[in-house]
Amino acid sequence: MILFIHRKDLRIDDLTAFDYIHSKNRPSLHILILDPFLLRDGREREHSGINFLQHASRLMRLYHEAGAYLTVLYGDPAVLIDQLLGELPIEEIVLHGDVTPYAVVRDRKIKVSASAHGVPVTTFIDHTLADFTELQRYAGRKEPYQVFTPFYKKWNSFLQHFHRPSSDRTLHDLQTTALPDQAAWSGRFPLPFGLEAYGEPPDPAEALSTFLEESLGAYAAQRDRYALETTSGISRHLNTGALSVRRVYEAALTFERHEAWTRQLAWRDFYLYQAVYNPDFFFYEKKFDLSGLEDTLFERWCRGETGIPVIDAAMTELNTTGQMPNRLRMVTAMFLTKNLRCSFTLGEKYFRRKLTDYDNVINRGGWLWSSSLGFDASPYFRVMNPVTQSVTHDPAGMYIRRWLPDLAGLTDKEIHLPQPGAIVDLRSSRAQAIDVYKRILAETKNNSSSISQI
Ligand SMILES: Cc1cc2nc3c(=O)[nH]c(=O)nc-3n(C[C@H](O)[C@H](O)[C@H](O)COP(=O)(O)OP(=O)(O)OC[C@H]3O[C@@H](n4cnc5c(N)ncnc54)[C@H](O)[C@@H]3O)c2cc1C
Repeated sequence: MILFIHRKDLRIDDLTAFDYIHSKNRPSLHILILDPFLLRDGREREHSGINFLQHASRLMRLYHEAGAYLTVLYGDPAVLIDQLLGELPIEEIVLHGDVTPYAVVRDRKIKVSASAHGVPVTTFIDHTLADFTELQRYAGRKEPYQVFTPFYKKWNSFLQHFHRPSSDRTLHDLQTTALPDQAAWSGRFPLPFGLEAYGEPPDPAEALSTFLEESLGAYAAQRDRYALETTSGISRHLNTGALSVRRVYEAALTFERHEAWTRQLAWRDFYLYQAVYNPDFFFYEKKFDLSGLEDTLFERWCRGETGIPVIDAAMTELNTTGQMPNRLRMVTAMFLTKNLRCSFTLGEKYFRRKLTDYDNVINRGGWLWSSSLGFDASPYFRVMNPVTQSVTHDPAGMYIRRWLPDLAGLTDKEIHLPQPGAIVDLRSSRAQAIDVYKRILAETKNNSSSISQI
């Protein structure tokens, strides 16, 4: 039998691995491993962990309704799989790959163990829209794209010609098999919490269709009018794999005026592409000397106590709900890294716990962009002014009034302004940030050129 391991692919249709398993015409044993490392430090109580567990709970229901078998276990994946391989007649492991440093090491261990048992491991990439190897070939490039616009143009034309259509295969087409002696396995790798208690996320397909039918046409004009909440909200479903990105793309193409939105799917792919093709992507904090940065005001930022209304409103929304609109992610990230001169890694880690739609690669991409690191990042001298951003995108301050009711009595003009006792002066901290980041980037350039001269 085939062992299929669910990861960030928590759905039962249009899965590359399902197509493959079906083509093999063999029974398959399906498991989902909740990894203590990924759920460490109480993450199961934070928005990002809760979102994953809600989708896991939904997946269990979908299997149950399909009359299929899925076992959820909790433990170190390498140890668990090694034991399954030792005790069950598994002939092949099938899974969807991931590119984060942790996932790479984890999967290497699984392959070592599988190889010791003489079992092949077949890995597919399922979470990107474009196949990046094919895209590079299509573009005739050896070097990766470092700038979004040319990447986007090629990505768009590649997909017009070579988009791999979603598959009609579903779980119903597979012969899943029950884990023999399931109770004993569940005793060996017990869940420390009940999944049912998490409930389920909003319905992913409904979120997509409601957005496409009601808001897609106005997306270009409204996406930054964050108080209106008119973006799709599907990132939490895309990042757990509850929605197939191929299906999402195909659905969008059936509507007029989809370009502004599908362009955002290209940004998603651009970060996933960087994670593969930019060797520094996961290591900028080692490549650059960030020791000149500080963490003095970090906690105030986390708590939404900076005295800059739009920052405090955005952090309050994040802490309360796990959501924050894209524009305000950029504004709060730049404020933390530039005005407060904190390392991007602090904000990245905080978002990891708090964001409902947290994704390791896309989150890092957003933080690198905001702190002027990474491919096609914002220039070091760009420091968004939170007051100007707030006035431009939410002139009546509706968003601030919603999340900071204490300020609701202020006029439309006053509501955006720094409060008495604000933790930084925006103008002087901007000037200091430009100096500091200029130095950070210049020093690294000198270092790397001196390394290449050795
Ligand atoms: C500092 C920072 C951290 C971020 N962390 C994450 C994260 O952990 N997970 C995450 O999914 N997104 C992250 N983003 C990107 C973006 O903010 C979210 O994808 C978006 O807000 C999700 O809302 P939506 O689904 O309504 O998006 P929509 O506006 O409806 O866009 C549709 C889809 O396109 C993709 N997308 C949209 N904007 C971006 C973008 N700027 N970059 C990459 N892909 C995008 C998402 O998959 C999104 O679901 C981050 C951005 C920044 C600046």
